[in-house]
Amino acid sequence: MGGLGLKRGLRFVVSLSALLIAVLAVNALRLESRQIEPVQPSRIEVDAAAAAGRLAAALKFATVSEEAGAQSDASAFAGLVDYLANTYPAVHRMLRPEKIGEGSILYVWQGSDNELEPILLLAHLDVVPVAPDEATSWTQPPFAGKVAEGFVWGRGAMDDKSSVIAILEAMESLLERGYSPRRSIYIAFGHDEEVGGQNGAARIAGEMAARGVNFEWVLDEGFFVTEGLLPGAADPVALVGIAEKGIVSVALEVQAAPGHSSVPPRHTAIGILAAALVRLEERPMAASVDGVTGQMLQWLAPEMPFLQRTVFANMWLFAPLVRARMEAVPRTAATIRTAQAITMVSGGIKENVLPSQARAVVNFRIRPGDRIEDVISHVSDVVDDERVSVSILPGLHSEASPVSSTQSQAFAALHVTIRRVFPDALVAPALVVGATDARHFSALSSNVYRFLPIRLGPSDVARIHGIDERISIADLGEAIRFYRELVLETTR
Ligand SMILES: [Zn+2]
Repeated sequence: MGGLGLKRGLRFVVSLSALLIAVLAVNALRLESRQIEPVQPSRIEVDAAAAAGRLAAALKFATVSEEAGAQSDASAFAGLVDYLANTYPAVHRMLRPEKIGEGSILYVWQGSDNELEPILLLAHLDVVPVAPDEATSWTQPPFAGKVAEGFVWGRGAMDDKSSVIAILEAMESLLERGYSPRRSIYIAFGHDEEVGGQNGAARIAGEMAARGVNFEWVLDEGFFVTEGLLPGAADPVALVGIAEKGIVSVALEVQAAPGHSSVPPRHTAIGILAAALVRLEERPMAASVDGVTGQMLQWLAPEMPFLQRTVFANMWLFAPLVRARMEAVPRTAATIRTAQAITMVSGGIKENVLPSQARAVVNFRIRPGDRIEDVISHVSDVVDDERVSVSILPGLHSEASPVSSTQSQAFAALHVTIRRVFPDALVAPALVVGATDARHFSALSSNVYRFLPIRLGPSDVARIHGIDERISIADLGEAIRFYRELVLETTR
Protein backbone atom coordinates (compact mmCIF):
# COMPACT_ATOMS: atom_id res chain seq x y z
CA MET A 1 0.00 0.00 0.00
CA GLY A 2 1.39 3.43 -0.99
CA GLY A 3 1.19 6.64 1.09
CA LEU A 4 -2.11 7.63 -0.48
CA GLY A 5 -3.65 4.21 0.22
CA LEU A 6 -2.65 4.40 3.88
CA LYS A 7 -4.24 7.81 4.27
CA ARG A 8 -7.40 6.62 2.59
CA GLY A 9 -7.50 3.52 4.84
CA LEU A 10 -7.06 5.66 7.96
CA ARG A 11 -9.84 7.97 6.89
CA PHE A 12 -12.04 4.93 6.36
CA VAL A 13 -11.34 3.61 9.88
CA VAL A 14 -11.99 7.03 11.44
CA SER A 15 -15.29 7.48 9.67
CA LEU A 16 -16.30 3.92 10.56
CA SER A 17 -15.57 4.61 14.26
CA ALA A 18 -17.53 7.84 14.10
CA LEU A 19 -20.43 5.98 12.55
CA LEU A 20 -20.29 3.29 15.25
CA ILE A 21 -20.26 5.88 18.04
CA ALA A 22 -23.20 7.65 16.38
CA VAL A 23 -25.16 4.39 16.18
CA LEU A 24 -24.44 3.57 19.84
CA ALA A 25 -25.45 7.06 20.97
CA VAL A 26 -28.62 7.14 18.89
CA ASN A 27 -29.68 3.76 20.27
CA ALA A 28 -29.04 5.03 23.80
CA LEU A 29 -31.00 8.24 23.22
CA ARG A 30 -33.89 6.40 21.62
CA LEU A 31 -34.54 4.30 24.74
CA GLU A 32 -37.84 5.31 26.28
CA SER A 33 -38.65 4.99 29.94
CA ARG A 34 -41.10 2.19 30.72
CA GLN A 35 -42.15 3.71 34.03
CA ILE A 36 -45.81 4.70 34.29
CA GLU A 37 -46.21 8.40 35.06
CA PRO A 38 -47.58 10.55 36.37
CA VAL A 39 -49.23 8.63 39.15
CA GLN A 40 -51.27 10.01 42.02
CA PRO A 41 -49.49 9.06 45.26
CA SER A 42 -51.55 6.85 47.56
CA ARG A 43 -53.72 8.78 50.01
CA ILE A 44 -54.84 5.79 52.04
CA GLU A 45 -54.52 6.38 55.78
CA VAL A 46 -53.00 3.54 57.78
CA ASP A 47 -52.41 3.27 61.53
CA ALA A 48 -49.00 1.63 61.13
CA ALA A 49 -48.12 1.77 64.83
CA ALA A 50 -51.22 -0.21 65.80
CA ALA A 51 -50.57 -2.71 63.00
CA ALA A 52 -46.97 -3.05 64.22
CA GLY A 53 -48.28 -4.13 67.62
CA ARG A 54 -50.45 -6.77 65.93
CA LEU A 55 -47.53 -8.03 63.82
CA ALA A 56 -45.33 -8.18 66.93
CA ALA A 57 -47.93 -10.34 68.69
CA ALA A 58 -48.06 -12.68 65.66
CA LEU A 59 -44.28 -13.16 65.85
CA LYS A 60 -44.58 -14.66 69.34
CA PHE A 61 -45.99 -17.86 67.86
CA ALA A 62 -42.92 -19.93 66.98
CA THR A 63 -44.41 -21.42 63.81
CA VAL A 64 -41.11 -22.99 62.82
CA SER A 65 -40.84 -25.37 59.87
CA GLU A 66 -38.23 -27.84 61.06
CA GLU A 67 -35.98 -29.60 58.59
CA ALA A 68 -36.54 -33.19 57.47
CA GLY A 69 -38.33 -35.35 59.98
CA ALA A 70 -38.27 -33.02 62.99
CA GLN A 71 -41.71 -32.25 64.38
CA SER A 72 -43.11 -28.73 64.10
CA ASP A 73 -44.92 -27.27 67.11
CA ALA A 74 -48.60 -27.79 66.17
CA SER A 75 -49.79 -25.67 69.08
CA ALA A 76 -47.84 -22.67 67.77
CA PHE A 77 -49.60 -22.94 64.39
CA ALA A 78 -53.01 -23.41 66.03
CA GLY A 79 -52.27 -20.46 68.32
CA LEU A 80 -51.40 -18.21 65.39
CA VAL A 81 -54.55 -19.18 63.48
CA ASP A 82 -56.69 -18.40 66.57
CA TYR A 83 -54.86 -15.14 67.04
CA LEU A 84 -55.55 -14.09 63.44
CA ALA A 85 -59.26 -14.99 63.81
CA ASN A 86 -59.56 -12.87 66.96
CA THR A 87 -57.51 -9.98 65.65
CA TYR A 88 -59.30 -9.65 62.31
CA PRO A 89 -62.95 -10.32 63.20
CA ALA A 90 -64.44 -8.90 60.00
CA VAL A 91 -62.18 -11.09 57.83
CA HIS A 92 -63.00 -14.08 60.01
CA ARG A 93 -66.75 -13.45 59.83
CA MET A 94 -67.09 -12.51 56.15
CA LEU A 95 -64.29 -14.46 54.44
CA ARG A 96 -64.80 -17.62 56.49
CA PRO A 97 -61.33 -19.19 56.64
CA GLU A 98 -61.12 -22.79 55.56
CA LYS A 99 -58.39 -25.10 56.82
CA ILE A 100 -56.51 -26.91 54.06
CA GLY A 101 -54.04 -29.69 54.78
CA GLU A 102 -52.56 -29.71 58.27
CA GLY A 103 -52.46 -25.99 58.83
CA SER A 104 -52.86 -23.86 55.74
CA ILE A 105 -55.72 -21.35 55.49
CA LEU A 106 -57.84 -20.22 52.55
CA TYR A 107 -60.10 -17.17 52.65
CA VAL A 108 -62.59 -16.31 49.91
CA TRP A 109 -64.14 -12.88 49.45
CA GLN A 110 -66.90 -13.44 46.94
CA GLY A 111 -67.08 -10.80 44.23
CA SER A 112 -70.28 -9.50 42.67
CA ASP A 113 -69.36 -10.39 39.09
CA ASN A 114 -68.91 -14.12 38.49
CA GLU A 115 -67.70 -13.49 34.94
CA LEU A 116 -64.42 -12.13 36.30
CA GLU A 117 -61.66 -14.52 37.31
CA PRO A 118 -60.59 -14.12 40.95
CA ILE A 119 -57.24 -12.88 42.17
CA LEU A 120 -55.04 -14.71 44.70
CA LEU A 121 -52.85 -13.21 47.40
CA LEU A 122 -50.37 -15.73 48.81
CA ALA A 123 -48.21 -15.65 51.93
CA HIS A 124 -46.93 -18.19 54.46
CA LEU A 125 -47.38 -18.69 58.19
CA ASP A 126 -44.21 -20.67 58.86
CA VAL A 127 -40.72 -19.39 59.53
CA VAL A 128 -37.21 -20.85 59.51
CA PRO A 129 -35.66 -21.90 62.83
CA VAL A 130 -33.21 -19.80 64.81
CA ALA A 131 -30.02 -21.77 65.48
CA PRO A 132 -29.50 -22.08 69.27
CA ASP A 133 -26.07 -20.43 69.10
CA GLU A 134 -27.52 -17.50 67.11
CA ALA A 135 -30.38 -16.64 69.45
CA THR A 136 -28.12 -14.76 71.85
CA SER A 137 -26.75 -12.58 69.00
CA TRP A 138 -30.17 -11.02 68.38
CA THR A 139 -30.74 -7.44 69.56
CA GLN A 140 -34.24 -8.54 70.64
CA PRO A 141 -35.10 -12.19 71.29
CA PRO A 142 -36.39 -13.72 68.01
CA PHE A 143 -39.78 -14.86 69.36
CA ALA A 144 -40.48 -12.12 71.91
CA GLY A 145 -42.47 -9.91 69.54
CA LYS A 146 -40.77 -6.66 70.49
CA VAL A 147 -41.38 -3.22 68.99
CA ALA A 148 -38.37 -0.99 69.63
CA GLU A 149 -36.51 1.88 67.93
CA GLY A 150 -39.19 2.12 65.23
CA PHE A 151 -38.95 -1.56 64.22
CA VAL A 152 -40.84 -4.78 64.84
CA TRP A 153 -38.19 -7.40 65.66
CA GLY A 154 -38.35 -11.16 65.34
CA ARG A 155 -38.25 -14.22 63.15
CA GLY A 156 -40.91 -13.73 60.46
CA ALA A 157 -40.91 -9.91 60.68
CA MET A 158 -40.01 -9.84 56.97
CA ASP A 159 -40.35 -13.42 55.78
CA ASP A 160 -43.30 -13.68 55.68
CA LYS A 161 -45.60 -12.65 58.54
CA SER A 162 -45.19 -9.02 57.42
CA SER A 163 -47.13 -10.07 54.35
CA VAL A 164 -49.73 -12.15 56.26
CA ILE A 165 -50.46 -9.25 58.60
CA ALA A 166 -50.37 -6.53 55.91
CA ILE A 167 -52.85 -8.48 53.75
CA LEU A 168 -55.23 -9.05 56.68
CA GLU A 169 -54.93 -5.42 57.82
CA ALA A 170 -55.80 -4.28 54.30
CA MET A 171 -58.78 -6.65 54.02
CA GLU A 172 -60.11 -5.84 57.50
CA SER A 173 -60.11 -2.12 56.74
CA LEU A 174 -61.80 -2.62 53.35
CA LEU A 175 -64.50 -4.79 54.99
CA GLU A 176 -65.02 -2.22 57.75
CA ARG A 177 -65.60 0.42 55.08
CA GLY A 178 -68.23 -1.74 53.40
CA TYR A 179 -66.18 -2.32 50.25
CA SER A 180 -67.69 -4.78 47.79
CA PRO A 181 -65.33 -6.21 45.15
CA ARG A 182 -66.57 -7.06 41.67
CA ARG A 183 -63.85 -9.66 41.29
CA SER A 184 -63.49 -12.38 43.95
CA ILE A 185 -60.46 -12.20 46.19
CA TYR A 186 -58.78 -15.41 47.38
CA ILE A 187 -56.17 -15.31 50.11
CA ALA A 188 -54.09 -18.38 50.94
CA PHE A 189 -51.53 -18.79 53.71
CA GLY A 190 -49.37 -21.90 53.46
CA HIS A 191 -47.86 -23.47 56.58
CA ASP A 192 -44.78 -25.24 55.14
CA GLU A 193 -43.29 -22.89 52.52
CA GLU A 194 -39.86 -23.07 54.11
CA VAL A 195 -39.71 -26.83 53.53
CA GLY A 196 -41.14 -26.90 50.01
CA GLY A 197 -44.86 -26.23 50.39
CA GLN A 198 -45.92 -29.79 49.55
CA ASN A 199 -48.53 -30.04 52.32
CA GLY A 200 -49.59 -26.40 52.12
CA ALA A 201 -49.46 -24.42 48.90
CA ALA A 202 -49.36 -27.54 46.71
CA ARG A 203 -52.51 -28.85 48.47
CA ILE A 204 -54.24 -25.50 48.12
CA ALA A 205 -53.39 -25.41 44.41
CA GLY A 206 -54.71 -28.98 44.03
CA GLU A 207 -57.93 -27.98 45.78
CA MET A 208 -58.34 -24.95 43.50
CA ALA A 209 -57.78 -27.11 40.43
CA ALA A 210 -60.39 -29.59 41.70
CA ARG A 211 -62.88 -26.73 42.12
CA GLY A 212 -62.11 -25.45 38.63
CA VAL A 213 -60.81 -22.09 39.85
CA ASN A 214 -58.40 -20.17 37.62
CA PHE A 215 -56.89 -16.88 38.68
CA GLU A 216 -56.59 -13.58 36.85
CA TRP A 217 -53.36 -13.18 38.74
CA VAL A 218 -51.43 -14.60 41.69
CA LEU A 219 -49.12 -12.57 43.93
CA ASP A 220 -46.64 -14.13 46.36
CA GLU A 221 -43.47 -12.99 48.13
CA GLY A 222 -40.25 -12.99 46.13
CA PHE A 223 -38.59 -9.66 45.47
CA PHE A 224 -38.68 -6.36 47.33
CA VAL A 225 -38.30 -2.64 46.86
CA THR A 226 -34.51 -2.83 46.72
CA GLU A 227 -32.43 0.12 47.88
CA GLY A 228 -28.77 0.39 46.93
CA LEU A 229 -28.60 -3.22 45.79
CA LEU A 230 -28.38 -2.79 42.02
CA PRO A 231 -25.18 -1.37 40.60
CA GLY A 232 -25.86 1.80 38.57
CA ALA A 233 -29.34 2.39 39.99
CA ALA A 234 -29.44 5.42 42.26
CA ASP A 235 -33.19 5.19 42.96
CA PRO A 236 -34.89 2.35 44.80
CA VAL A 237 -35.99 -0.37 42.38
CA ALA A 238 -39.10 -2.44 42.99
CA LEU A 239 -38.25 -5.78 41.43
CA VAL A 240 -41.25 -7.88 40.49
CA GLY A 241 -40.45 -11.57 40.06
CA ILE A 242 -41.99 -12.77 36.80
CA ALA A 243 -40.42 -16.22 37.08
CA GLU A 244 -38.53 -18.37 39.54
CA LYS A 245 -35.77 -20.87 39.10
CA GLY A 246 -36.30 -24.61 39.30
CA ILE A 247 -34.35 -26.87 41.61
CA VAL A 248 -32.81 -30.31 41.40
CA SER A 249 -30.03 -32.10 43.25
CA VAL A 250 -27.90 -34.59 41.37
CA ALA A 251 -25.99 -37.46 43.03
CA LEU A 252 -22.64 -38.54 41.56
CA GLU A 253 -21.49 -41.95 42.74
CA VAL A 254 -18.45 -44.15 42.19
CA GLN A 255 -18.25 -47.82 43.26
CA ALA A 256 -14.93 -49.66 43.47
CA ALA A 257 -13.49 -52.85 44.89
CA PRO A 258 -12.38 -52.46 48.52
CA GLY A 259 -8.91 -53.59 49.48
CA HIS A 260 -5.74 -52.72 51.38
CA SER A 261 -4.36 -49.24 50.75
CA SER A 262 -0.80 -50.64 50.51
CA VAL A 263 -1.50 -51.90 46.97
CA PRO A 264 -3.73 -49.18 45.57
CA PRO A 265 -4.92 -48.64 42.00
CA ARG A 266 -3.80 -45.39 40.38
CA HIS A 267 -7.22 -43.78 41.12
CA THR A 268 -9.48 -44.72 44.04
CA ALA A 269 -13.23 -44.15 44.01
CA ILE A 270 -12.59 -40.84 45.77
CA GLY A 271 -9.99 -39.75 43.22
CA ILE A 272 -12.30 -40.59 40.32
CA LEU A 273 -15.15 -38.67 41.93
CA ALA A 274 -12.92 -35.69 42.74
CA ALA A 275 -11.73 -35.46 39.12
CA ALA A 276 -15.35 -35.51 37.95
CA LEU A 277 -16.25 -32.71 40.36
CA VAL A 278 -13.32 -30.60 39.17
CA ARG A 279 -14.47 -30.98 35.56
CA LEU A 280 -17.98 -29.98 36.56
CA GLU A 281 -16.86 -26.81 38.33
CA GLU A 282 -14.73 -25.86 35.35
CA ARG A 283 -17.65 -26.15 32.94
CA PRO A 284 -20.86 -24.73 34.42
CA MET A 285 -23.95 -24.54 32.25
CA ALA A 286 -24.04 -21.69 29.73
CA ALA A 287 -24.89 -18.18 30.92
CA SER A 288 -26.96 -15.80 28.86
CA VAL A 289 -28.15 -12.21 29.30
CA ASP A 290 -31.30 -12.91 27.33
CA GLY A 291 -34.40 -14.06 29.15
CA VAL A 292 -35.83 -12.60 32.32
CA THR A 293 -32.64 -10.88 33.45
CA GLY A 294 -32.30 -9.37 29.97
CA GLN A 295 -35.82 -7.97 30.39
CA MET A 296 -34.80 -6.45 33.71
CA LEU A 297 -31.83 -4.71 32.07
CA GLN A 298 -34.09 -3.33 29.32
CA TRP A 299 -36.47 -1.90 31.91
CA LEU A 300 -33.66 -0.30 33.92
CA ALA A 301 -31.51 0.92 31.02
CA PRO A 302 -33.51 4.10 30.21
CA GLU A 303 -33.15 5.22 33.85
CA MET A 304 -29.37 4.79 33.98
CA PRO A 305 -26.50 7.24 33.47
CA PHE A 306 -25.52 7.69 29.82
CA LEU A 307 -22.60 5.27 29.78
CA GLN A 308 -24.54 2.29 31.19
CA ARG A 309 -27.51 3.27 29.12
CA THR A 310 -25.37 3.11 25.98
CA VAL A 311 -24.14 -0.34 26.94
CA PHE A 312 -27.63 -1.75 27.61
CA ALA A 313 -29.11 -0.08 24.54
CA ASN A 314 -26.53 -1.86 22.40
CA MET A 315 -26.61 -5.42 23.61
CA TRP A 316 -26.02 -6.58 20.01
CA LEU A 317 -22.45 -5.41 20.66
CA PHE A 318 -22.00 -5.48 24.43
CA ALA A 319 -23.80 -8.70 25.48
CA PRO A 320 -20.52 -10.64 25.92
CA LEU A 321 -19.08 -7.83 28.06
CA VAL A 322 -22.21 -7.57 30.23
CA ARG A 323 -22.32 -11.34 30.59
CA ALA A 324 -18.67 -11.48 31.69
CA ARG A 325 -19.22 -8.73 34.27
CA MET A 326 -22.32 -10.46 35.64
CA GLU A 327 -20.65 -13.87 35.73
CA ALA A 328 -17.85 -12.48 37.87
CA VAL A 329 -20.16 -11.79 40.85
CA PRO A 330 -22.08 -14.71 42.44
CA ARG A 331 -25.24 -12.66 43.05
CA THR A 332 -25.58 -11.56 39.43
CA ALA A 333 -24.17 -14.80 38.01
CA ALA A 334 -27.07 -16.66 39.64
CA THR A 335 -29.54 -14.58 37.60
CA ILE A 336 -28.13 -15.49 34.18
CA ARG A 337 -27.40 -19.19 34.37
CA THR A 338 -28.42 -22.50 35.85
CA ALA A 339 -26.27 -22.39 38.97
CA GLN A 340 -24.52 -25.40 40.45
CA ALA A 341 -23.09 -25.94 43.92
CA ILE A 342 -21.36 -29.09 45.13
CA THR A 343 -22.94 -29.29 48.56
CA MET A 344 -22.16 -32.77 49.95
CA VAL A 345 -19.41 -35.32 49.62
CA SER A 346 -18.73 -38.62 51.38
CA GLY A 347 -16.57 -41.73 50.93
CA GLY A 348 -14.13 -43.97 52.72
CA ILE A 349 -14.36 -45.65 56.13
CA LYS A 350 -10.79 -45.95 57.38
CA GLU A 351 -7.41 -44.43 56.56
CA ASN A 352 -5.87 -47.72 55.32
CA VAL A 353 -8.89 -49.19 53.49
CA LEU A 354 -9.55 -48.47 49.83
CA PRO A 355 -12.96 -46.80 49.59
CA SER A 356 -15.62 -49.01 48.01
CA GLN A 357 -17.82 -45.99 47.40
CA ALA A 358 -17.63 -42.23 46.99
CA ARG A 359 -20.61 -39.94 46.58
CA ALA A 360 -21.27 -36.26 46.06
CA VAL A 361 -24.40 -34.14 45.74
CA VAL A 362 -24.58 -31.15 43.42
CA ASN A 363 -27.48 -28.75 43.88
CA PHE A 364 -28.72 -27.00 40.74
CA ARG A 365 -30.95 -23.92 40.48
CA ILE A 366 -32.45 -24.07 37.03
CA ARG A 367 -32.91 -20.98 34.88
CA PRO A 368 -36.14 -20.69 32.82
CA GLY A 369 -35.26 -22.15 29.43
CA ASP A 370 -33.25 -25.04 30.88
CA ARG A 371 -34.95 -28.21 32.07
CA ILE A 372 -34.07 -30.93 34.59
CA GLU A 373 -33.23 -33.30 31.70
CA ASP A 374 -30.82 -30.67 30.32
CA VAL A 375 -29.07 -30.56 33.69
CA ILE A 376 -28.68 -34.35 33.77
CA SER A 377 -27.32 -34.56 30.25
CA HIS A 378 -24.95 -31.64 30.90
CA VAL A 379 -23.57 -33.40 33.99
CA SER A 380 -23.17 -36.71 32.12
CA ASP A 381 -21.44 -34.97 29.19
CA VAL A 382 -19.01 -33.03 31.37
CA VAL A 383 -18.22 -35.89 33.74
CA ASP A 384 -17.78 -38.18 30.72
CA ASP A 385 -16.71 -41.17 32.78
CA GLU A 386 -18.63 -44.47 32.89
CA ARG A 387 -17.36 -45.19 36.38
CA VAL A 388 -19.35 -42.21 37.71
CA SER A 389 -23.10 -42.79 37.93
CA VAL A 390 -25.33 -39.72 37.67
CA SER A 391 -28.84 -39.69 39.15
CA ILE A 392 -31.49 -37.30 40.45
CA LEU A 393 -31.51 -37.20 44.22
CA PRO A 394 -35.00 -38.21 45.45
CA GLY A 395 -36.94 -35.45 47.16
CA LEU A 396 -37.65 -31.88 46.30
CA HIS A 397 -37.18 -31.00 42.67
CA SER A 398 -39.10 -28.78 40.28
CA GLU A 399 -38.70 -27.28 36.83
CA ALA A 400 -38.19 -23.54 36.43
CA SER A 401 -41.52 -21.72 36.42
CA PRO A 402 -43.07 -20.31 33.27
CA VAL A 403 -42.27 -16.63 32.65
CA SER A 404 -45.21 -14.28 33.27
CA SER A 405 -45.67 -11.34 30.96
CA THR A 406 -44.83 -7.70 31.63
CA GLN A 407 -47.51 -6.77 29.06
CA SER A 408 -50.46 -8.12 31.06
CA GLN A 409 -53.10 -5.97 32.76
CA ALA A 410 -52.05 -7.63 36.01
CA PHE A 411 -48.45 -6.44 35.63
CA ALA A 412 -49.70 -2.94 34.79
CA ALA A 413 -51.84 -2.99 37.95
CA LEU A 414 -48.82 -4.00 40.03
CA HIS A 415 -46.70 -1.37 38.31
CA VAL A 416 -49.12 1.51 38.91
CA THR A 417 -49.76 0.39 42.51
CA ILE A 418 -46.04 0.27 43.26
CA ARG A 419 -45.57 3.77 41.78
CA ARG A 420 -48.44 5.05 43.93
CA VAL A 421 -47.20 3.60 47.21
CA PHE A 422 -43.45 3.91 46.52
CA PRO A 423 -43.27 7.06 44.34
CA ASP A 424 -39.46 7.15 44.65
CA ALA A 425 -39.05 3.63 43.21
CA LEU A 426 -38.58 2.39 39.67
CA VAL A 427 -40.26 -0.83 38.58
CA ALA A 428 -38.56 -3.72 36.76
CA PRO A 429 -39.24 -7.42 36.20
CA ALA A 430 -36.72 -9.92 37.56
CA LEU A 431 -35.90 -13.58 38.06
CA VAL A 432 -36.33 -15.00 41.59
CA VAL A 433 -33.36 -17.30 42.24
CA GLY A 434 -34.89 -19.07 45.25
CA ALA A 435 -38.14 -21.03 45.42
CA THR A 436 -41.52 -19.67 46.52
CA ASP A 437 -45.00 -21.15 47.03
CA ALA A 438 -46.04 -19.33 43.84
CA ARG A 439 -44.59 -22.07 41.66
CA HIS A 440 -47.40 -24.42 42.71
CA PHE A 441 -49.90 -22.11 41.01
CA SER A 442 -48.39 -21.82 37.53
CA ALA A 443 -51.06 -24.12 36.09
CA LEU A 444 -53.85 -21.96 37.54
CA SER A 445 -52.83 -18.58 36.15
CA SER A 446 -50.61 -17.22 33.41
CA ASN A 447 -49.96 -14.13 35.55
CA VAL A 448 -47.95 -15.26 38.56
CA TYR A 449 -45.87 -12.52 40.20
CA ARG A 450 -43.56 -12.45 43.19
CA PHE A 451 -43.21 -9.22 45.13
CA LEU A 452 -43.19 -8.43 48.83
CA PRO A 453 -43.99 -4.71 49.20
CA ILE A 454 -41.31 -3.81 51.72
CA ARG A 455 -38.00 -1.99 51.35
CA LEU A 456 -34.76 -3.94 51.44
CA GLY A 457 -31.37 -2.23 51.79
CA PRO A 458 -27.86 -3.74 51.79
CA SER A 459 -27.88 -4.32 55.56
CA ASP A 460 -31.26 -6.08 55.39
CA VAL A 461 -30.31 -8.88 53.02
CA ALA A 462 -28.60 -10.93 55.74
CA ARG A 463 -31.53 -10.49 58.14
CA ILE A 464 -33.79 -12.75 56.07
CA HIS A 465 -33.32 -16.25 57.51
CA GLY A 466 -30.55 -14.56 59.56
CA ILE A 467 -30.00 -12.57 62.73
CA ASP A 468 -32.05 -9.49 63.71
CA GLU A 469 -34.86 -9.93 61.20
CA ARG A 470 -37.00 -6.80 61.53
CA ILE A 471 -39.32 -4.45 59.67
CA SER A 472 -39.72 -0.74 60.28
CA ILE A 473 -43.16 0.48 61.33
CA ALA A 474 -43.18 2.81 58.31
CA ASP A 475 -42.42 -0.09 55.95
CA LEU A 476 -45.27 -2.13 57.41
CA GLY A 477 -47.56 0.85 56.77
CA GLU A 478 -46.48 0.94 53.12
CA ALA A 479 -47.12 -2.79 52.75
CA ILE A 480 -50.68 -2.42 54.09
CA ARG A 481 -51.30 0.53 51.77
CA PHE A 482 -49.92 -1.49 48.84
CA TYR A 483 -52.28 -4.44 49.30
CA ARG A 484 -55.27 -2.13 49.74
CA GLU A 485 -54.43 -0.11 46.63
CA LEU A 486 -53.76 -3.25 44.60
CA VAL A 487 -57.07 -4.86 45.58
CA LEU A 488 -58.95 -1.66 44.77
CA GLU A 489 -57.08 -1.29 41.48
CA THR A 490 -57.99 -4.79 40.28
CA THR A 491 -61.34 -5.67 41.88
CA ARG A 492 -63.26 -2.42 41.82
ZN1 LIG B 1 -40.75 -16.75 52.62
